[in-house]
Amino acid sequence: MFCPKCGAQVEDGVKVCPTCGENLEAKTEDVSAKVAELTNTADLTATFDPNDIQNNKVMAILAYLSWLVLIPLFAAKDSPFARFHVKQGLLLAICEIIVAVVFGILTSILGGVFVLWLIFTLIQAVCNIIFFVLSIMGIINAAQGKAKELPIIGKLKILDNVIK
Ligand SMILES: [Zn+2]
Repeated sequence: MFCPKCGAQVEDGVKVCPTCGENLEAKTEDVSAKVAELTNTADLTATFDPNDIQNNKVMAILAYLSWLVLIPLFAAKDSPFARFHVKQGLLLAICEIIVAVVFGILTSILGGVFVLWLIFTLIQAVCNIIFFVLSIMGIINAAQGKAKELPIIGKLKILDNVIK
């Protein structure tokens, strides 16, 4: 690895840069703390029936596969575990649609200006990468039988009153 301050090559596990004295340990903890903060979302697995989880894993996975969320939405109404994932998957799909529509409009109005087109395209690409990562996390949680909230999306409870 390399020292972030002076760029000198440092052996893995070294806590202080031998060239400039930069404390390398704090930097690593800082980043991992931020990652942990984002990924350590509420895990509500214990509040679900193990049989429900076992029987509805596939339905829960479908919730994160774009429009396939409609299958568990209508076919797994009696499964609280599938419902949990449907709420997150549906919210993710809604966010994807909103981003696509908003940037579609922005690009068609202002896309003639190359710089604006570039900015819109880049922001949209970043959003889509985030959506993709979130859906993968959701699929992994569902496949592992976990009812774990997604970062960002999991905190938005707007569907709680719509889908029981
Ligand atoms: Zn250094």
